[in-house]
Amino acid sequence: MKKILYFLTCVCLFITGCQKNKTADNNRYQADVVVIGAGGAGLSSALHAYDNDVSVIVLEKMSYVGGNTTRAEGGMNAAETQFQKAQGIEDKVSAMVEDTLKGGKETNTVELVEYLASNSSDAIDWLTELDIDMSGVAQGAGATYPRMHRPNDGSKVGSVLIPGLMKHLEAKGIPVLHNTKAESILLDNNKNIIGITATKNNETITIYANAVIIASGGFGANEEIFSKYKPELKGFKTTNHPGATGDGIVMAEAVGADIILMDQIQTNPTVEVNTQTVISESVRGKGAILVNQEAKRFTSEMQTRDVLSSEILKQPEKFAYLIFDQRIMDSMKALQDNYKKGIIVKSDTIAELAENLSLDPQTFEKTLNDWNTIVKIQNDTQFNRSTGMDEDLSQAPYYAIKVAPAVHYTMGGIKIDTNASVIDTEGNIIKGLYAAGEVTGGVHGNNRLGGNAIADIIVFGSQAGKQAAEYAKTLTPLPLMLITNDSETTYRKGTLKDGVYEASSKGHLGEITLKVTIGNGNIQTIETITSEDTPALYEGALNTLIPQIIQTNSADVDTVTGATNSSNAIISIITDIIEQAK
Ligand code: ADP
Repeated sequence: MKKILYFLTCVCLFITGCQKNKTADNNRYQADVVVIGAGGAGLSSALHAYDNDVSVIVLEKMSYVGGNTTRAEGGMNAAETQFQKAQGIEDKVSAMVEDTLKGGKETNTVELVEYLASNSSDAIDWLTELDIDMSGVAQGAGATYPRMHRPNDGSKVGSVLIPGLMKHLEAKGIPVLHNTKAESILLDNNKNIIGITATKNNETITIYANAVIIASGGFGANEEIFSKYKPELKGFKTTNHPGATGDGIVMAEAVGADIILMDQIQTNPTVEVNTQTVISESVRGKGAILVNQEAKRFTSEMQTRDVLSSEILKQPEKFAYLIFDQRIMDSMKALQDNYKKGIIVKSDTIAELAENLSLDPQTFEKTLNDWNTIVKIQNDTQFNRSTGMDEDLSQAPYYAIKVAPAVHYTMGGIKIDTNASVIDTEGNIIKGLYAAGEVTGGVHGNNRLGGNAIADIIVFGSQAGKQAAEYAKTLTPLPLMLITNDSETTYRKGTLKDGVYEASSKGHLGEITLKVTIGNGNIQTIETITSEDTPALYEGALNTLIPQIIQTNSADVDTVTGATNSSNAIISIITDIIEQAK
């Protein structure tokens, strides 16, 4: 079998080497589309490219996937969705456009905002088809209607989204190369995109590709860049993961891309001060308030992020307490997780909470009583808050989180059009180069509304994937190939039918049932559903056979000595599944 693999590899190398006039080597990576970054935008684009019948490789510089997307707590804005309709919310695409432009002080690229809003409902449907729950709908700041879609069980949106997308990449066999940092975009003599260079284990590799998608996120973890563009942020903490260093912007600029709005950097107003955990604005949307060290409210808590950040920084102590009750705690899993992390103060009474926060108890009690009256009469004469006040704060125990603004999101970046094509400094598209997500500029203008980052990465990530695939298909195909000096790993498009299969066979003591996932035409995963065999023998056999079966994509493997019956059962199940998948 190994010989066949080697032969196939050589044939591929020979064919593609001739077609693209590139010499074959033994350290060759290629795909029709290469995606830089395995955050929400990158994973969405990879799935769409694959579904449009091209080969795809994803590069991720960190040892983990998910980027800043994993950290997203709130949700995804979308208008006119099935879930809004089910709840009788009469939102409009035009209202989402208006709110987004208003939030971005009309500095957004209007066509991008229109594309975002018009495709947001389809994006929710796509995620729903992928079994990613976005059925909860919450009110977000700056939104005329509730349109922030999120997992109904109150989970953090990012923690559901990334594993949900990754499951499908794995099932389709789309390789994600971890610890692989894209360094530059490669052009040929005619300035056509021909791939990228990257570093992996201190070695430089070249990945040949017909189209490149930059989905490497923003630069919120790169103090040098953010304080260069906005000096007043020097020394600011960040909510970003360490990989958000703006690499994609630097790479795109080097091949002529236009870079816009770089000084538009958003601080998140409610970040827990010790752990930099973002506390979603949906907590305020559900009725939480902010108080200062004088135990008083000082602003409408539903202002946009920029205004609220600056209101908090106007307080002498430069932080505030986010106050809520048991009702809100019960409704948000993210808060319950944060409580377990030890970043939330809990007290049985209002007076006790005041004492724990060193606030004046009488003033604090009055602030809460006043707030509950405001909710009752639905009229906040002092600060004009008009949303997120459906229910009061009266259900003990009471909670507080100490919050302050931190660098959260970078609105500026690579200029794109509605095809997610990168635009150069002359206003022309750079053929074969696409970008999506936080690495781009224009969608949010100079201020992003909460819930629009996830909308952006899914809508434009999907578009980048589709468009990159369409473009790649106009060129000579580059079958997926990852051959490295060290591992001799070859990813081929196999011939089996993708899907999840189950089969059973009798082992030594009883029935064994396995679940096998086939993606990219190859066996990807083998899991036990049931086994009545002696666990030690069965698992020993399975653990020995799984890598061989996956590597050969066949049941053509030897039984394991001492576990012949279990081995034979496993081999017979795989044979059966391969038959089903032919
Ligand atoms: P978005 O929300 O736009 O999808 P994320 O921050 O969620 O952005 O994801 C971007 C991903 O790109 C992160 O996982 C980050 O580590 C990765 N990344 C950043 N720079 C590079 C690079 N040079 N090469 C490969 N991956 C990168």
